[in-house]
Amino acid sequence: MVAWRPPARSTSGSGSAAPANRASGRARRCGRAARGARLRGRAPLGRRDARLLVLLGESARASLDATTRCPACSESIEFSPGAAQLLDAEPAALAPLERDGLVVRWRPPDSRDALAASAAVEAAAAHAILLERCVLAATGPDGAVAPSELPAAVRDTLDAAIAASDPLAEILVDLACPVCGVAFVADLDLASFVWAELDAGARELLGEVDVLARAYGWTEPEVLALTDRRRAAYLRLAREGVS
Ligand SMILES: [Zn+2]
Repeated sequence: MVAWRPPARSTSGSGSAAPANRASGRARRCGRAARGARLRGRAPLGRRDARLLVLLGESARASLDATTRCPACSESIEFSPGAAQLLDAEPAALAPLERDGLVVRWRPPDSRDALAASAAVEAAAAHAILLERCVLAATGPDGAVAPSELPAAVRDTLDAAIAASDPLAEILVDLACPVCGVAFVADLDLASFVWAELDAGARELLGEVDVLARAYGWTEPEVLALTDRRRAAYLRLAREGVS
């Protein structure tokens, strides 16, 4: 598993205008992204995360720093696939699956399915919940077949079809260790990076509200009503005032 590392942020309180302005912009983008996530509850998981990533401002020109360890020599390896590169992964068409005399109509799991499956304690139970929700209809020579009654071979084929339909849900990257030369495949956890970004943006905005509320006695709604530019200007004044 690879840990995504959000880009470094300025923690300086020196009064420089640019960092505060950037932070505000990021926080606002995060709010938009979070709303987009709710609206897109039915989007396949990987595609949802990639869209969020773009909304967060890590656009085509930006790259994301990811780190992993070489499985042979444990060397820490950094690499930077761009968001646009991630979005280039094309999903496979959602054709009904035909195997062993069965025809299965299905759809890829989305955020609501993942939430429902997360209630299960064991992986097998979570898998069963996903199957129940994502199999729209299964029919064999003798009529309808319940998702739980599908043979193991059909379930395996369905798992593979679901993975191919949403390639961004699991991102595999070919890497070679610069120290020992071993080639290996890294499994990127895109979702954890996106949610770390959202969390960081919310914290930055909270910090700005705190500074301005203390300096001017404003309420949170009053601070949030300011434009990015005005908020950055007041932050600069507030920080200059205490240094
Ligand atoms: Zn190595």
